[in-house]
Amino acid sequence: MKKKVLVTGGAGFLGSHLCERLLNDGHEVLCMDNYFTGGKQNIAHLLSNPYFELIRHDVTMPYFVEVDEIYNLACPASPIHYQYNPIKTIKTSVMGAINMLGLAKRIRAKILQASTSEVYGDPTIHPQTEDYWGNVNPIGPRSCYDEGKRCAESLFVNYHAQNEVRIKIMRIFNTYGPRMHPNDGRVVSNFIVQALKGQDITVYGDGGQTRSFCYVDDLINGMVAMMDTDDSIQGPINVGNPSEFTILQLAQQVVALTGSKSKIIFKSLPTDDPMQRQPDITKAREILKWEPKVKLEEGLIKTIEYFKNTIS
Ligand code: NAD
Ligand code: UDP
Repeated sequence: MKKKVLVTGGAGFLGSHLCERLLNDGHEVLCMDNYFTGGKQNIAHLLSNPYFELIRHDVTMPYFVEVDEIYNLACPASPIHYQYNPIKTIKTSVMGAINMLGLAKRIRAKILQASTSEVYGDPTIHPQTEDYWGNVNPIGPRSCYDEGKRCAESLFVNYHAQNEVRIKIMRIFNTYGPRMHPNDGRVVSNFIVQALKGQDITVYGDGGQTRSFCYVDDLINGMVAMMDTDDSIQGPINVGNPSEFTILQLAQQVVALTGSKSKIIFKSLPTDDPMQRQPDITKAREILKWEPKVKLEEGLIKTIEYFKNTIS
């Protein structure tokens, strides 16, 4: 059945891939963005599709439209960008959630929240399961993002409990791929851009901290599968790739795959940088029948190809 779908943050990295996927599945897509970190270049190839509509709007302001489903992705995701204007980041998460949940309630739409592994903070259990409450510093430099996303989750479960809004909460772990912003400071884009430009590769700390990297196509499959679950499923459900690497291993792999002459150098570790992160995806496997398929090397090769063509 053809659905009308609103994607907030649709001109961003994940949002643009989601819009493309939904159009390919035969749906009508309304892409809302304020272009803070996203850009028209990410969705320019979709503009000629008559079922694609672009809306310049800030999610902190109310918006009314008739749709069947809402994917709420609007929020800067990289530490540099979300710490640039931390109060705005909190407003985007919290007021954005209130506005989109209010809309979902009014028009009886299903709504999915792009939550994050950051709700677990610097986790004391490993791997992270959905029932873990997290270890977040409420007054640290990451709190505008972490606490904003935690408050959004609370809003989602309470709109469900109080108003029977059909909600889905998905906790996304580090995802990478084409259309990441080359200057947003996230580790995969940073290392690839540095390697391709022959610049030093900046490992923060001793590089012993870990992350588990999911390729964007896998993530989008998980996101659509989550939205398609029946109304008895609200989540939260972790979606990410459980293959865990140290940041130093990632740097070495990027150097090897690009054939770069860049040197790996070490810089100080940012405050509250989580030491380890790996999703437990048992629920995603059981409930969504989903698991990631793309290995890190394969995903990195595709991402390197993208950056080769986009950076000068
Ligand atoms: P991104 O920065 O590329 O995309 C975010 C988009 O939201 C951008 O297009 C930006 O312009 C838009 N936006 C920001 N504030 C807005 C506002 N007030 N009103 C309207 N639009 C606004 O980041 P991304 O990686 O695509 O992340 C998308 C979502 O997924 C975010 O909510 C993020 O928190 C979540 N997420 C991403 C990751 C990841 O690894 N990529 C991990 C966990 C969670
Ligand atoms: N990182 C790094 N060098 C960089 C950028 C990031 O060593 O140039 C590290 C960062 O300190 C963190 C990890 O890579 O430990 C992932 O950082 P990112 O900002 O991509 O995501 P997050 O910390 O939000 O998981």
